[in-house]
Amino acid sequence: MNCPICDSDNIEVLNSKQIESKKKFTEEFLLKCFDCGHVFKDVVSAEKPKPYRIIISEQNQSYKTNINLSPNDELEVGDVLLSDVGQVEVTSIEVNDTRVNKSLIENINTIWATSVDIPSRIGFSVDLHGKVDSYKLDLDRDFEIAPGDIVKIEDHIVKVHVIKTNERKLTSGFAKAGVIRRVYSKPVKFNNFDYDLTKNIFKKT
Ligand SMILES: [Zn+2]
Repeated sequence: MNCPICDSDNIEVLNSKQIESKKKFTEEFLLKCFDCGHVFKDVVSAEKPKPYRIIISEQNQSYKTNINLSPNDELEVGDVLLSDVGQVEVTSIEVNDTRVNKSLIENINTIWATSVDIPSRIGFSVDLHGKVDSYKLDLDRDFEIAPGDIVKIEDHIVKVHVIKTNERKLTSGFAKAGVIRRVYSKPVKFNNFDYDLTKNIFKKT
């Protein structure tokens, strides 16, 4: 906001009043210019958020829900939104049956997104000489596992031998849980361990 007389942006707010109508939030300001002393009014209004259709995919499922957004904002692929299932990243935007990378929100028919803070579910196998204990674990997507890690899981202390990711099998380096499918491990006779995954067990099979 600038002074209409001298164009200064050195403005003091004397008073403000919020008005809510069906479609808009409006705020009326009574302002005073510090430089020339002129007193004037200004009005700022924003359209109220409206529900938009969003399809969120996570693991192998997808949810249809609605998300409240301001119609006059812009939305772009890669933006992160807070939905009713947590944080999601926009992967595609549908406007008039066409997929676009960017749009004014009021034109959007459907938003496509993937969940970003739902944990990654990975498999974890403990090779017990002929018998395998197999677990499903829920881990933060950024959690790093490396071949050679010594891990406690229930009453096993194991060493990670191989990590199978979406693309390859690792016997060195490390991988983040977000891309791991399964970790293969064997018991070791240690008492110490790098970390304990017992609390991350979703299911033992
Ligand atoms: Zn002024």
